[in-house]
Amino acid sequence: MKNHALLARPLRLGSLWRWLLPLLLVCLFLAVLFWLPWQARQMENNERQEQLIADTLWVEQAVRFELSRNEDAFTGIAADLARPGTATATVQARMDQMRKNSHELLRLAVLDEQGRALLTSGPELPATLAEPSRNAAELARKTGRGRYSEPYAAGQNLIDYHLPRIRNERFAGSLVATYSLKALLDETVPWWFAQDNVTSLINRDDAVLAQRAAAGPGRGVYTHKRELDLPGANVRLATDSVKDLPRLLPNLLVGSVIALALGLLVSLIALWRHIARRLAAEGALCQQMAFRTAMENSLVTGLRARDLEGRVTYVNPAFCQLVGLPPEELVGKAPPMPYWAPEAMAEYQQRLDKVLSGHVTPQFETTFRRADGERIPVLIFEAPLVDSEGRQTGWMGSILDISDRKRVEELNRQQQEKLQASARLATMGEISSMLAHELNQPLAAISSYTTGALNLLARAAADGSAVDAALLLPALEKAGVQAQRAGQIIRSVHQFVKQRAPERQLIDIAGLVDGISTLIELQARKYFVAIRTGIAPGLPQVSADRMMLEQVLLNLTRNAIEAMQDVAPERRILRIDAAIEQDQVRVAVSDHGHGISAEVAGRLFSPFFSTKAEGMGMGLSICRTAVEFHGGTLSHRDNPDGGTIFSFSLPAHTKNKGDKHAAHRGR
Ligand code: ADP
Repeated sequence: MKNHALLARPLRLGSLWRWLLPLLLVCLFLAVLFWLPWQARQMENNERQEQLIADTLWVEQAVRFELSRNEDAFTGIAADLARPGTATATVQARMDQMRKNSHELLRLAVLDEQGRALLTSGPELPATLAEPSRNAAELARKTGRGRYSEPYAAGQNLIDYHLPRIRNERFAGSLVATYSLKALLDETVPWWFAQDNVTSLINRDDAVLAQRAAAGPGRGVYTHKRELDLPGANVRLATDSVKDLPRLLPNLLVGSVIALALGLLVSLIALWRHIARRLAAEGALCQQMAFRTAMENSLVTGLRARDLEGRVTYVNPAFCQLVGLPPEELVGKAPPMPYWAPEAMAEYQQRLDKVLSGHVTPQFETTFRRADGERIPVLIFEAPLVDSEGRQTGWMGSILDISDRKRVEELNRQQQEKLQASARLATMGEISSMLAHELNQPLAAISSYTTGALNLLARAAADGSAVDAALLLPALEKAGVQAQRAGQIIRSVHQFVKQRAPERQLIDIAGLVDGISTLIELQARKYFVAIRTGIAPGLPQVSADRMMLEQVLLNLTRNAIEAMQDVAPERRILRIDAAIEQDQVRVAVSDHGHGISAEVAGRLFSPFFSTKAEGMGMGLSICRTAVEFHGGTLSHRDNPDGGTIFSFSLPAHTKNKGDKHAAHRGR
């Protein structure tokens, strides 16, 4: 019990893991499956953001580069102006040229130290500069460096750049460049960037000063802001991508991977269920096998399977025990089999040939030889062995050891014989008393005839006369007849009592009745019963043991006679009839006796059942055994004339049957 519990624990754990592990793996797989696209989206998201930042930096550099290039050019112009002898027209031309090349430059003007315009390219400067521009000019003058103004004008999309002109270390006026922020964006932001992003210039309060939105409005998902770092101006560059967040299932590839994975999962579940079903079936099969093995091992009937060539394919333990050979020495063996008795080899071979040709005898008796040489009578049942597709693959035989049955049968037979002998002796007991009485008559007659003959002879001797043969002869003849009769009586009794094995011969019923008529008469005379016989002429013979049939008849006649002991003397008639009825010779013994009540009828043939004070109750039982031994039947019915009719029928002998019996005796 303890061991069992210990064993069961690891087993349960093992089966738990067997289920848990795939379950965990599937969960992990599902988690990875959902995490992967999410992670991919996250990465793409970051990548887009980083790309935008890098691009924004690039644009900022571009703007800065443009502005500083312009600043350098302005410094160049200022230097030209400072150089003595420089023609005003040259400077004007240069300014015009510059404005032509840089579209973002709306106006370029050279002012004197009072702020009056000396040269102007583009629209005229207003009489008073906008306040942010004035502030920038003031600061530029103070610091002596170029300065940008805060955005101004309607829409706030203009800024001015003030560059102080220093001559002989004195402020000699300035150079003012007016930029259009919108044009600045159009000029510096490359087309490929403008296609994917909205680019704006914004002030410190995030108000849009100028914007370039070639590809529609931005999504607000990927944005970046960068200070333009213009001295004096607070302008920032803001970018906003038109791209949205990346989708979770961005492309066909991921979609198909997921679809495949789901398909895999479904087939895994199907496989799982299939395996579960298989395991259940396997379990059931194992149980079935265990059950079958236990059944086979517990069987006392031998089982043997053979293939269509007669080779042994399977034997059970009972069969091995029966023939005293291990399975290894039997399975795979082809005929002749090790358990075939040499003396019956021909019979086995003949039967095997019939089996192989498909003509199987479903049940037959034969003899097997054990490994130790002992012969065993066996009863074999043979049936076709059919596989799951309905094809015959061989033969399955179950083999019963019938040694015990045979022994019992033999014992029964011996018992029956003994009983018959005792019954015969019992009958003889009665007969011998009657025999004594019967022999008395012929012996007395012989005695008186011989006495008469002797007297005749003595008288002749005394007289010296010749013996009168006419007187002597009949006396001696009668004495001879009486002596013969006595001899016949004794012979028939002797024949009857002799015990011997049954021996079939062809018997004529008329002759049979005749043969025992003396004995029947002996029985009948005791109760003054008259005997009538009615044997049909030309009755066929029967093949039987004469003595057994005689005993049957004697028993039936004795019962009939005894049944009539209390009826009126004129009704005491015993009839023995014989006739042919449908290939059967029927012999009937009728009486006018007391008849058989229903109660008695039920037990009539039971051994030792008798209603008589001195009855042994074996007569009818023996009669029936004897009749059935000859293949016939014994029955009784009420005599319509009062009393009972016992009759038995035996197969009539025909020519063919005769041959068979002859063959049988020959064996
Ligand atoms: P037993 O003659 O020793 O009694 P049987 O077996 O011959 O044994 O008969 C059994 C019984 O059957 C008899 O006791 C008798 O009662 C009954 N029986 C047999 N034959 C007849 C018959 N012809 N008429 C009436 N009863 C009969």
